[in-house]
Amino acid sequence: MKYDVIVIGASPAGLMAAWKAAEGGANVLLLEKRKSFNSAPSPADTSFDGFFKMIGLEPKEEYIIHKVKGMNIISPFGTTITIETPGFSIDRKKFDAYYTEKARDAGAEIKMNSEAMALNGDGVVVKEGESKKRYNGEIFVLASGIQSEIVKATGLKTMKYPEDLAYAMQAEMEGVEVDENYFHYFLGKEVAPGWKATISPKGDGKASAGVFVRGEEPRKYFDRFLQRGMFDEAKILHVSDGADQIITMPNELVGDRLMVAGGAAGQAGIAYGMVAGMLCGEVAAEAVKKKDSSKRFLSRYERRWKKKFLNHYRVGRFGLKTIEKMPDEELDEAMRALEGVDISQQLSKHDNVILNSLSMGFLLLLKNPKLIRFVKYLL
Ligand SMILES: Cc1cc2nc3c(=O)[nH]c(=O)nc-3n(C[C@H](O)[C@H](O)[C@H](O)COP(=O)(O)OP(=O)(O)OC[C@H]3O[C@@H](n4cnc5c(N)ncnc54)[C@H](O)[C@@H]3O)c2cc1C
Repeated sequence: MKYDVIVIGASPAGLMAAWKAAEGGANVLLLEKRKSFNSAPSPADTSFDGFFKMIGLEPKEEYIIHKVKGMNIISPFGTTITIETPGFSIDRKKFDAYYTEKARDAGAEIKMNSEAMALNGDGVVVKEGESKKRYNGEIFVLASGIQSEIVKATGLKTMKYPEDLAYAMQAEMEGVEVDENYFHYFLGKEVAPGWKATISPKGDGKASAGVFVRGEEPRKYFDRFLQRGMFDEAKILHVSDGADQIITMPNELVGDRLMVAGGAAGQAGIAYGMVAGMLCGEVAAEAVKKKDSSKRFLSRYERRWKKKFLNHYRVGRFGLKTIEKMPDEELDEAMRALEGVDISQQLSKHDNVILNSLSMGFLLLLKNPKLIRFVKYLL
């Protein structure tokens, strides 16, 4: 038997790809190496209503465990900018199970405890417990995450700047004393060079606390972050680590009979991975109907995704690279100019992420013309 579409990895991207390809009429197999969704769930456990709206999905009560009103961004010297933008923490076991059911209901076959070892001609060699099997397919969607050897073996340069990966450590905790109405993001070289430290409340004192850094090992910063007062009475339940593709920039996403989606393709974040998976699934189903699984046909996925979202990553990369060049004192000064500004309103003024970012820049200059000297960091 030959499947139309074989999806490798039940990541947010993989689950959506399997769901949408099956919904489009393709005969789909999803392979996941974990034994069950209860074993080693992903540490990625927060998102925002705005992201889900942007990708055309509703976040579901079935997997939401805590809601926040927005986020606090905290400068190295404690200046806090609050952005009112509703968000939520999710139970990843429930989230993964929810979208697995969607894929299964649409007709996809799901195999857990099935690790794809290698693509070989029109098949994939899979380790299932002690035995090896081979499944044949026409189109392969690789959604198996950043460490995926199977993606590396394709030779595709899926990320433009793989050297810019951020490395993270995150702890699940209880007894954390923090305002549970907001996610908290801490910036600055002393806290987390190259990216951020986070506290994501989950209600009743539970929270995940993580440190994400670029160019250094996260351990030192993680240990230091957990010395903060809000963790004085806290107990660590579990620690995980991983890599965040935040500014690596999606690059080459398709080959003949191949599509790569999610973290493996530099599409950082749950929502961006989900929408990449949705587009992969839709294009795979179209390709099956047209009997054309060439790179040329599958490039529709890459074009559609990049047209909608690549600028978001360009702005994000530009922003983080700029912050990286600024001494902590100057980052604090820039953030002080934003105090009292309705940032969520500013950032949704236009339907264009670059225009919104430019108008934020002008607003900063209006509020503190001395910031014009920071233009040097933009070059
Ligand atoms: C500590 C940490 C916290 C984060 N928190 C957030 C957050 O709160 N919100 C957010 O939006 N983003 C967060 N991110 C970023 C986020 O993890 C990624 O951008 C993305 O969601 C991860 O999805 P992924 O596509 O990389 O796949 P993964 O989540 O890594 O999933 C890959 C899946 O493929 C399976 N797999 C791997 N290899 C094989 C194989 N050979 N055969 C079969 N199956 C295989 C794995 O078991 C896994 O289920 C976080 C990142 C880190 C490191």
